[in-house]
Amino acid sequence: MRDVVAPSHRHVDYLRLSVTDRCNFRCVYCMPEQGVPFKPHEQILSYEDMVFFVGAVSGLGIGKVRLTGGEPLVRKNLPYLVRRVAALPGIEDVSLTTNGTLLPRFAAELADAGLSRVNLSLDSLDPERYQRLTRGGRLEQALAGIEAAFEHGLTPVKVNAVMLPELMQELDAFVELTRERPLHVRFIEWMEVGGCGPREEGERLSRTELLAALSERGALVPVASPGGFGPARYFRLEGHAGTLGVISSVSDHFCGDCNRLRLTADARLKSCLFSDEETDVSAAIRARDREGLLALVNRVLASKTYSRPRAGAAGRGMSQIGG
Ligand code: SAM
Ligand code: SF4
Repeated sequence: MRDVVAPSHRHVDYLRLSVTDRCNFRCVYCMPEQGVPFKPHEQILSYEDMVFFVGAVSGLGIGKVRLTGGEPLVRKNLPYLVRRVAALPGIEDVSLTTNGTLLPRFAAELADAGLSRVNLSLDSLDPERYQRLTRGGRLEQALAGIEAAFEHGLTPVKVNAVMLPELMQELDAFVELTRERPLHVRFIEWMEVGGCGPREEGERLSRTELLAALSERGALVPVASPGGFGPARYFRLEGHAGTLGVISSVSDHFCGDCNRLRLTADARLKSCLFSDEETDVSAAIRARDREGLLALVNRVLASKTYSRPRAGAAGRGMSQIGG
């Protein structure tokens, strides 16, 4: 039976659950190179804590869960969490956002545990540039992650590329990725979160510029989101098996349609990526106080504004919130 929730918040049905604030990369648009203040282990929720939280909010109609981070696959035994969350009543979809480099090792186990699909970050198809942007990553490992996702049926496979200025030089290579296979490339406007946005206006590439450049490659036919429910708009080039998507969180505000709630790895509940407001639900989770927890969740949902806060989130970066 569903718990009582205010009617206007019934459409919040999607949880982004950050399983760690740690990462094997330091992408230039996400984290500083050094001095990232990781939370002490004792402040990070255990898997049992997370299962309790998801079990509680599933009663509010939140049936879709995306595991994110930091890099979720650097946390030990992620398939265990997937299996437990996927088995909860009311949970209809468990997905993962990852940089993909550890996916070849875990894809089979994750699929077996009930993971439905993955989104992989891939900001360049040039090995040298990929290494520079991720500050150390190896392109061939990310590409192997994509292969592993297809091999183990973690589909539809979506690739996220942040719209950094040099992306324009690589558009053809990204477009090629969609030609033969049902791969969905999403270009994401570079957001200002936790002080990691573009430093100068010239570094900001907009969806208008990107769509103009893409349409030089052929007619872009708008299509429905491949197996998703997020804010991306998708297009298909004639004859291509995959699609091209744009997530224009800077140029456009999707606030009115926002269906998501976020829980950070240290148990802060956030109803908006761009807001500094957060609610500490760690005590209620650790005490297994379902009623107290749901009271806090309902309060956060009731205060969800559906309009972008004026100030950018100055506090946590994407890796600390769970992008
Ligand atoms: N480590 C995983 C990954 O890279 O996919 C999951 C966490 S990462 C924070 C989630 C997504 O946020 C990635 O697709 C990444 O490209 C995106 N992201 C991080 N910082 C961003 C920023 N400042 N603007 C736009 N997207 C960003
Ligand atoms: Fe790590 Fe993902 Fe952030 Fe890159 S985007 S630093 S892989 S959390």
